[in-house]
Amino acid sequence: MSFVHFAHASSVRVDEQGELGASVDYLVEKSGPLDLSQASSLYMSGKFMKGVALVPDFGIGSNPVWMHLEADNQGNSVSLKYLLAGVTWLDRLDVYVLHSGKLESQVHTGDDGKNAPGLTPAQGFAFPIVFPQGRSDVYLRIQSVDPMVVPIELLSRESLEKRKIRSGYFYGFLYGYLAALCVYNLLLFSGLWERSHLYYSLTLLSGIVCNFSYSGHGVAWLWPDSPWFQRYIILVAMVVYSVCGLLFAGRFLSLAEYMPRTLKATRWFSASAIAAMALSMLVGSQLAAGLIAFSTVFIFAVMMFLIGLFAVRKKLPAGRHFLSAITFGMLGAWITNFAVWGKIPYTPLTFHAFEIGLALEATLLALGLAYKMRQYQEANIKAEKMARQDPLTGLSNRRGFLELASMCWSSAARGERSLVMIMMDIDHFKAINDQYGHQAGDDVLIKVSTLLKRNTRASDLVARWGGEEFILLLTETDIEHARNYAEKLRHAITELKVKTGSHSISLTASFGVVRCSTDSKIVDMIHLADAELYRAKSEGRNRVCVLAPAGIG
Ligand code: GH3
Ligand code: MG
Ligand code: MG
Repeated sequence: MSFVHFAHASSVRVDEQGELGASVDYLVEKSGPLDLSQASSLYMSGKFMKGVALVPDFGIGSNPVWMHLEADNQGNSVSLKYLLAGVTWLDRLDVYVLHSGKLESQVHTGDDGKNAPGLTPAQGFAFPIVFPQGRSDVYLRIQSVDPMVVPIELLSRESLEKRKIRSGYFYGFLYGYLAALCVYNLLLFSGLWERSHLYYSLTLLSGIVCNFSYSGHGVAWLWPDSPWFQRYIILVAMVVYSVCGLLFAGRFLSLAEYMPRTLKATRWFSASAIAAMALSMLVGSQLAAGLIAFSTVFIFAVMMFLIGLFAVRKKLPAGRHFLSAITFGMLGAWITNFAVWGKIPYTPLTFHAFEIGLALEATLLALGLAYKMRQYQEANIKAEKMARQDPLTGLSNRRGFLELASMCWSSAARGERSLVMIMMDIDHFKAINDQYGHQAGDDVLIKVSTLLKRNTRASDLVARWGGEEFILLLTETDIEHARNYAEKLRHAITELKVKTGSHSISLTASFGVVRCSTDSKIVDMIHLADAELYRAKSEGRNRVCVLAPAGIG
């Protein structure tokens, strides 16, 4: 097609702003590397194709590409510009500047060599070029097994410096924020020993490492002379990030309990991704490693999203927090993954989507983790309460009574105040059960409990001692008042009518009353009250028996 082969796109002015991808011509090397003179003669003979995309993107495993840009300096003096080209993970980048057919300057860089010249974190490769008046030819040769994305811009020194400062602030804030959330989760893990916090801090950490590597900060500052490390660190971090994310999801949503098959699938997927990555590194295939890393992140993002959807549908605890957070994180990962891979346009927004998504996700998950913590707390408080409470009547049970009674005991001993214990048992309760059924028996117990609660002061204790037996501890009451009080209760119970179907059940109860000696143990007093109750039963039931220990009161 002549259209495709029509070369010599219009030249660009050296002070033109913005991406120049649509103004370059390019040629993909087919058989072996070309040198500059071969490339330029192919360009002259119209073998280059016209660029279309603002940011040319050749995907993973592309052959090396030659690009030509005609830069026009229309001013009346030389012009110093910074050529900003490529992304920091390009393996090799060779730049040649020709003026009137004469080679004026050249640069050879790329992360496959040590201390790559011009490598500018989060920007690409930047070199100063002096453009003489008139037209210059700029040739670039780009080689990369990893995604070959080639943004090209001509910038003034000031605008490049401005960008560096802006990106410095951006990444300073981003890493600071993510690191703080990472430490926050580690601290929560060390305090609560809950593994979802550990897994999430590992997810964040691998996300930070991954971003630090692909943005070029790592190779610029930490490992400028380790090309092998640079070749694999980004790809390995992508896989580790995915694996940690799935571990986190499994724990955070308690998948072992609610979705065991899904959990198993995530484990299989993680193990396969790790094995495939290790294998491709072992055989030294950067291409295979790249394809595995990008596919892993893609599948991981889809899996997380589906798990989130299921979690919400199955109403799992914190499922909605998980889904809303993960939606941001995964959308970001997915967008940047595909932008870099060359499947969707590469723009500043699509390039930074992963970073923005990760920060939003981490923030929402911090809220989700706090919500889960509150749920744990509430469940604990509830369980604690349940352990002290009788579920049928809502009164304290034996354990709850003994705890509260021992507090009354010590304060009564200090203030030398009097305490009275009353043991009460419903008469012939078994017969009620037998005659009207167990449910009617339960109704009787509830009615009696309500009556007891209504007739005690806030400072008194009422509890269900077991079966149809109740225990009361009255504070600041002398024995005569207690006897009258027990009589009042006994009378009230005889008046009680419990409706069941067409019947109305009447009942009576027996009482044992003792004046407590705080020098004695609680259980001893309970035995004494029990003995009085037994006496009331044996003397004919529906009565109150009182014991006042000699020497007290
Ligand atoms: P007494 O006058 O000698 O106390 O005779 P009683 O029938 O009240 O006492 P007994 O100990 O012989 O029987 C108590 C019955 O209470 C037996 C048991 O099945 C019943 N019971 C215990 N707990 C519950 C309960 O929570 N609900 C119901 N409906 N019945 C209960
Ligand atoms: Mg590379
Ligand atoms: Mg009874």
